[in-house]
Amino acid sequence: MTAVTTEQMTTTPTTGPGADGTGDGRDIFDITIIGAGPTGLFAAFYAGLRGAKTQVIDALEEAGGALTAIYPEKYIYDVIGFPKVLAKDFVERCLAQADRSDPTIRLNEEVTELERLDDGLIRLGTSRGERFSRTVIVCAGVGAFEPKRLTVDGVKELEGHGVHYFAKRVEDFRDKDVVIVGGGDSAVDWAVTLEPVARHVTLIHRSKFRAHEGTVAELEASSVDLRFPGCETVAVRAGSDGHLSGLTFKDAAGETHDIAAQELIVAIGFVADLGPLKTWGFEIQRNQVVVDPLTMATNIPGVFAAGDIATYQAKFKLIATGAAEAVTAVNHAVTSYDPKARLDAGHSTTIMEKRDKVTAATAN
Ligand SMILES: Cc1cc2nc3c(=O)[nH]c(=O)nc-3n(C[C@H](O)[C@H](O)[C@H](O)COP(=O)(O)OP(=O)(O)OC[C@H]3O[C@@H](n4cnc5c(N)ncnc54)[C@H](O)[C@@H]3O)c2cc1C
Repeated sequence: MTAVTTEQMTTTPTTGPGADGTGDGRDIFDITIIGAGPTGLFAAFYAGLRGAKTQVIDALEEAGGALTAIYPEKYIYDVIGFPKVLAKDFVERCLAQADRSDPTIRLNEEVTELERLDDGLIRLGTSRGERFSRTVIVCAGVGAFEPKRLTVDGVKELEGHGVHYFAKRVEDFRDKDVVIVGGGDSAVDWAVTLEPVARHVTLIHRSKFRAHEGTVAELEASSVDLRFPGCETVAVRAGSDGHLSGLTFKDAAGETHDIAAQELIVAIGFVADLGPLKTWGFEIQRNQVVVDPLTMATNIPGVFAAGDIATYQAKFKLIATGAAEAVTAVNHAVTSYDPKARLDAGHSTTIMEKRDKVTAATAN
């Protein structure tokens, strides 16, 4: 995958004389997008289509949001134009599309503060300094997400030594004894994905599966050793090399079982934490930012939200709906900093053709 990494990010200075031609040293963007998940990346492309000077800021080291962090090797079936696509491949396409608009992408940078200044600009305080923008589109998903941890003695010491909360590469599990804990989409997807690759896969779960029916059917037809309901991990063991070597689980009858495991994937869910976003003055409902669905505007002037972070009546948290919301947010952001601009820019074909003509005329 050719995801943009921290090293590749644009290193535009936050301050410096005349960075934007205003002479006051502030590098001012038309639109700043918080979050480089699928919604943020599509918003970045669309903002470029509208001619906006755009930056995208994400706390994670790689772009792609939940798709990169939680399920890079899971297939997605409900995004337009792809009958079936791996999440990591979809992120690659999103990045290539965003790249057409040449946004500044800043990774490994958390936005911690948002305030409107007296001159109407928005100041973002980040883990790397200050950023300035005419408008902001918050595409922050569920905020900073943290996996729920397994509360078993010794498991913390084995994180990175066989215990995973984010599994990324299938190849890391080849020919290993793998145990997966959990019963949601992530756990079931990983069990099905690793079954043909690993030596042996065991799935341990406390209750019923809460995953997509089709994948559960696939799981039940596979050779995965299913230990549910009422089963839970009670101990982990390390080998002499300090790497995970096995674990003990208790079944519904209270009987304990020792099994070999070189790799343990804990997929028991995430704790969503909006973190600093909660303090910026948004109207928040159930950990989401309330928006007007006609404009995607939040209650803070000049600040819009799209994707999983945004809520309104009858909201669907999907990649496809996030993309549509991004278009609405960008169009309204553009008319908010440039009231003379048209709300509807028309079709991309027309815009790109005009742009290509201008480029050709300038070149001659
Ligand atoms: C297991 C699983 C399977 C799924 N399968 C599907 C599917 O098949 N089809 C589908 O349509 N949807 C699916 N979804 C849902 C889909 O992943 C989300 O709808 C989508 O990721 C939302 O995109 P987003 O860009 O709004 O947010 P996210 O992808 O969550 O990205 C948000 C980004 O914002 C960043 N961020 C947050 N706070 C800050 C901050 N303060 N400063 C800087 N950066 C910040 C985060 O680091 C993150 O990178 C699935 C979700 C899960 C968990």
